[in-house]
Amino acid sequence: MTVDDSIAKLVAEATASARGRSITKRKALDPSRPAAKWTTTTRVGQKTGTALSVVLGTIGCSHARGEAGGCTMCSYLLDGSSRSPTAEELVQQFTTALDQITGLDSPLSVKIYTSGSFFDEEEVPPDARGRILDLIAEDARIEEVVIESRPEYVSEGVLSELKERLKDRVVEIGMGLESSSDRVRSLCVNKGFSFADFLSAVERARVRGIGVRAYVLLKPPFLTETEAVLDAKKTIGDALAAGVTTISLNPVNIQKNTLVEQLWKGGHYRSPWLWSVLEVIESARSAAGNEVNVICDPVAAGKQRGAHNCGKCDESVVSAIRRFVLSQNLEDLKAPGCDCRGLWLHSRYHEDVAHLVHQ
Ligand code: SF4
Ligand SMILES: [Zn+2]
Repeated sequence: MTVDDSIAKLVAEATASARGRSITKRKALDPSRPAAKWTTTTRVGQKTGTALSVVLGTIGCSHARGEAGGCTMCSYLLDGSSRSPTAEELVQQFTTALDQITGLDSPLSVKIYTSGSFFDEEEVPPDARGRILDLIAEDARIEEVVIESRPEYVSEGVLSELKERLKDRVVEIGMGLESSSDRVRSLCVNKGFSFADFLSAVERARVRGIGVRAYVLLKPPFLTETEAVLDAKKTIGDALAAGVTTISLNPVNIQKNTLVEQLWKGGHYRSPWLWSVLEVIESARSAAGNEVNVICDPVAAGKQRGAHNCGKCDESVVSAIRRFVLSQNLEDLKAPGCDCRGLWLHSRYHEDVAHLVHQ
């Protein structure tokens, strides 16, 4: 066993231990209602439209439910149901969510989340999957569909089914690449798949005209701020080279019952600075072609559990990010300066303990 294997084993054990009773204390959700649904103004291709996001209440992510313990920063398991809903109930959940877009004009985007993988047949049986896709196909206002899944479930079979049912709509599979470094993804995130697995899934989708939205993590644990910024920039470059169609930057937020929360409580982790988020978005926008959108919706931004600055400038930086995501224009990313930029630069250059050497 190599040193990295030993560390990976320790991280997985610590993640499973932090997860604690997350599985057993989950509630039995009302199986006929989605776990969450909301609409937002969003970019749909090159236009501005409305996005309906639906979180189907399933049994939750297989990686988090199993012995692997899940990812170091993710508590989505808590959103899942202790009982697996039937196909009928899942279709009903989706139908309930569709009520939210009644009367809205096109272009609409529908994003399907499950706190896991839509293509995992243990979470969403094939019958429910087919019927949900058909409901989308019937609505001409829906121009874009985003579906989340781990790469191992993005099979040729489900991709062909997507194409067959959704025809010429823009379809993207959202996959949590997090980092293109196998070392960072394994030791810092406990992700459970390799960069090669991600690349194969991108290729399987690409040859069928289906896009990939790559989720890139900013500041997994055990990296300094500078290492995290470098890792995110490198990951974005690698994802673009692989042919992904959207870059979604996700600054770590501290979620309950996770290893990241334990480290944070012990004073060993700080979520990223919003200045770092700006720097990575700017670099991503410059690296990506015009047809690739760079998006970012930092959860709990400005709060201690989310990406934050000093408290005085957080709101203006977050507003700049929101403006930019809609326009994709770097001019909109400009936020007023603040004294805390000096402190950010200080921690960038003087963090003296590097837990993991950046490759
Ligand atoms: S981040 Fe995704 S793959 Fe990891 S535990 Fe959460 S839902 Fe599962
Ligand atoms: Zn500030």
